[in-house]
Amino acid sequence: MTQRDNNKHKARQQRLKDVVDAKVAQAQTERGVLLVLTGNGKGKSTAGFGTVLRAVGHGLSCAVAQFIKGEWPCGERNVLEKLGVPFHIMKTGFTWNTQDREGDTRAAEAVWQAVAKDLANPDIDLVLLDEITYMLSLHYLDVDSVVAAIESRPAHQHVVITGRNCHRRLLELADTVSEIEPVKHAFDAGIKAQQGLDW
Ligand code: ATP
Ligand code: MG
Repeated sequence: MTQRDNNKHKARQQRLKDVVDAKVAQAQTERGVLLVLTGNGKGKSTAGFGTVLRAVGHGLSCAVAQFIKGEWPCGERNVLEKLGVPFHIMKTGFTWNTQDREGDTRAAEAVWQAVAKDLANPDIDLVLLDEITYMLSLHYLDVDSVVAAIESRPAHQHVVITGRNCHRRLLELADTVSEIEPVKHAFDAGIKAQQGLDW
């Protein structure tokens, strides 16, 4: 690289830095954020739990609601419960089977009632609502109630939502929305879901 190239590069980087610095200086608000992780690619729940871990690592109080996993194993739960993070999960009776729509609705409602208390609790800094999007698309939970609880949560509290096909109302309410796109998935090549990587 010639000296001239070097100077050009330096000037370009400085201009970029000025733009970024100006943006950073502009972002002054500090408040609870609603983060939605959606899309058909792998990594939504992983990122949700990663955020919980990050928060716990800074001494924040977190709570997790899992809306489909039920009694299924979950590596993150094994760790986070030991660190004092409460989990609200679907108990037996949740079938994904519309033949028992009433039972499923009751199971979803029970988890919702439990996590709604966290959403109203100023001592909780971050709430993960893992897979809640399906509860809305299946009409097991009422979107108005979910939106109202999130809107009226303590001002500093962060909420993370994961799941495909997120309801438009939640996307509108969200501060940050990431859509994870499936470029490739091992499952399509016949590789089964594996403990430690997929759950
Ligand atoms: P993860 O829990 O791995 O972060 P996710 O939350 O993004 O995945 P879900 O829709 O909740 O995705 O998927 C649950 C399971 O299905 C996981 O074991 C995940 O690896 C798998 N999975 C996710 N996306 C795909 C896909 N595009 N094709 C096949 N399997 C998938
Ligand atoms: Mg998931």
